[in-house]
Amino acid sequence: MMFLGHFGLGLAAKRVAPRTSLGTLWLAAQFLDLIWPIFLLAGVERVEIDPGNGLVTPLDFVSYPFSHSLLAAFGWALLLAGIYWLARHYGSGTAIIVLLVLSHWVLDALVHRPDLPFYPGSSRMAGLGLWSSWRYTLLLEGVIFVWGVAVYRGATRPRDATGRYAFRTLIIFLVLVYIGSLVSGPPPSSQYVAIMALSQWLLVLWAYWVDRHREAAV
Ligand SMILES: [Zn+2]
Repeated sequence: MMFLGHFGLGLAAKRVAPRTSLGTLWLAAQFLDLIWPIFLLAGVERVEIDPGNGLVTPLDFVSYPFSHSLLAAFGWALLLAGIYWLARHYGSGTAIIVLLVLSHWVLDALVHRPDLPFYPGSSRMAGLGLWSSWRYTLLLEGVIFVWGVAVYRGATRPRDATGRYAFRTLIIFLVLVYIGSLVSGPPPSSQYVAIMALSQWLLVLWAYWVDRHREAAV
């Protein structure tokens, strides 16, 4: 449930896999959070609103073994990369998809309290708990995101006005959503959390659109 950091890594990955769309890179980097709401709505995983739980997040991640255990992350990484390989036969893109899906778990493990399982049913949990510090949270998210935007901007150039403005608006929108999530009060219900998380699929579509209007910078 880190936010800007995941998108930042996805942006930066464009340099390593220039032929992979930003939409696919974001799909991979944010995959665990994109499928999480589906498990929430299905009642298989659980999140609770607990404003006293952590400084930065009001969410208590009670159970999310299928979207957020390390073992599951490996499984999703291989599945996503396998599908991509069959569709594109692009080695760099396939490898970067594996790394991005796994990077999500690693970044989450930096900020979450120890609530990330290693495998479904494991009693040992990972989580360094940076979310107890505003300074480290904002620094980590901010640095990765700014770096990612800079790398993507350097690796690509706009083909047309859409490539320029749809990209800028997307970046500004992400920052506003992030700030909004920090300053708004706790969400009204876990259902609401799931719907908001589900809406991130639109960001992936937006990224596919942006990427079609940009090309590799020579
Ligand atoms: Zn996550």
